[in-house]
Amino acid sequence: MRRAVAVELEVTKELNKLLYSVEAMYLNIVREVVVYAIANNVTNPTQLQRLFYRKYRQEYPSLNSQLVIQAIRQASEIAKSFIERKKRGLVDKPYPEVKAVSIRFVITTWNYEQFVKSIAPVRITISLPGGRREVWIKPHKRFWLYWWKVLSGEAGLAGTLIVKRRTNKWYAIFVFELKPKDELPQSVVAFDINENTVAVSRIDIIATIDKTASWNRRYLMPQLYTIRTDFGRLAKRYERTRNAITERLKPLYALPNGKYVSITGTREFRKHVKGLREWGRKVGRVRQIANELTKTPGIIVTEELGENPQESMINGIGKDELRHRIKQTPFKSIEKAVEDKALERGSRIFHVSSYRNSRVCPIHFTRLGETNDWHTLKCPFGHLVDRDHASVMNMFWKLTSEAWTKAFWWDLKSLSKNMNWRKHEGKSNPLVPHEIVKYIHATLKEFKASFEQSPAVLARGSPMNPARGANEDWARAPPRSKGTLTLQGGEEARSDLLRCVGLSDVSNG
Ligand SMILES: [Zn+2]
Repeated sequence: MRRAVAVELEVTKELNKLLYSVEAMYLNIVREVVVYAIANNVTNPTQLQRLFYRKYRQEYPSLNSQLVIQAIRQASEIAKSFIERKKRGLVDKPYPEVKAVSIRFVITTWNYEQFVKSIAPVRITISLPGGRREVWIKPHKRFWLYWWKVLSGEAGLAGTLIVKRRTNKWYAIFVFELKPKDELPQSVVAFDINENTVAVSRIDIIATIDKTASWNRRYLMPQLYTIRTDFGRLAKRYERTRNAITERLKPLYALPNGKYVSITGTREFRKHVKGLREWGRKVGRVRQIANELTKTPGIIVTEELGENPQESMINGIGKDELRHRIKQTPFKSIEKAVEDKALERGSRIFHVSSYRNSRVCPIHFTRLGETNDWHTLKCPFGHLVDRDHASVMNMFWKLTSEAWTKAFWWDLKSLSKNMNWRKHEGKSNPLVPHEIVKYIHATLKEFKASFEQSPAVLARGSPMNPARGANEDWARAPPRSKGTLTLQGGEEARSDLLRCVGLSDVSNG
């Protein structure tokens, strides 16, 4: 797991000139080699080096030989990825436009050995035309944070240093290799990504795991809550703004025959859209979610997403606008961000199959029926279940092997004939420690029992009313919770839980 930290360099006028000259030479090599590599379909770095090294050593004698090699390597990488993207039809230009480069200083071209030994490094020495140069860096909090990890052995510093210019400032980019933490899990979290929300269920492991007997029942209640993401709504809003920009620009791009050139491809359009910061906002939210889900070290459970979850989800959805919004939901990047953060914080992520997760009652193991609200399902035992909550609770069930068969193979007889057992077998992860599986099981049993034993409580839950303005495609009314709803013990909390899980009595309604 890697983290890059950029630290600004203290650059004198003279040094600035030097760095600019190095950048110009480096960029030139990269550009020329990229063109050659693509034109001749030669992307092997060794081969390219053999072809070009001597030429550029002669052309730029002041440039460190290692930098020449790194520039050629970088060109090879750019060419490779360009050819790959071209194959997949993602580019229409004949050659990539190399606008900026990251100048790579390998271990021998800067004072790595000395630097890593330092307790509080404030300078680097790099090989530039005219010899080695000492450069002061402007370390900041984030840098010191990772440096502390280096000193304490939790992280290592990579040997390659990257120097990069952004407008007129120069940065040194240090790459830290973090060692995954190995911590005792404190919680088990299941999450499910939807268009506008991420549904979460959390089981806190409070007691020492091996003291099974003394588990306090009070703490065995799983928390259920929703994190609002509004990716769908965000997409909707940007869609509107984008359309408005297109309309505004149309007159500028009208052709004599009354038609328009493609406006979305124009520089003017891109300039306007850039100001929307759509991507930046999305990334921010993705990070928040990852943070929330991994705040304590634990076991994180989620559905196995296919290669392209959006595609499988929009199957059968006709409305263009909705299809677009689902496409804009960053399922994969949420998963990736959570995985990454999980590793850093000593959590582990497990995937369970998505099979019937939102089709089974997590309390009675019966097949749920549809209601007129997409988000609410009805159990044959007469209560309503929120689809999201069924989904996350069932992910938990799948970690326990006993319930696995009960809950998901209720029609075993008809299925066993034409069922591919191999496919679903063993997908309840055997990697989750047995003690924890026992804990999850006990919690789920308690959760189940508390509903089966007190039907009166079920009756008191407020009905899940679709008229609450709930059903706008996938997006429903914002969750009532202001963040985390802790659901432990007490009558008040019980009925809260009911509303939260979406359970209520419908037998007389
Ligand atoms: Zn039920």
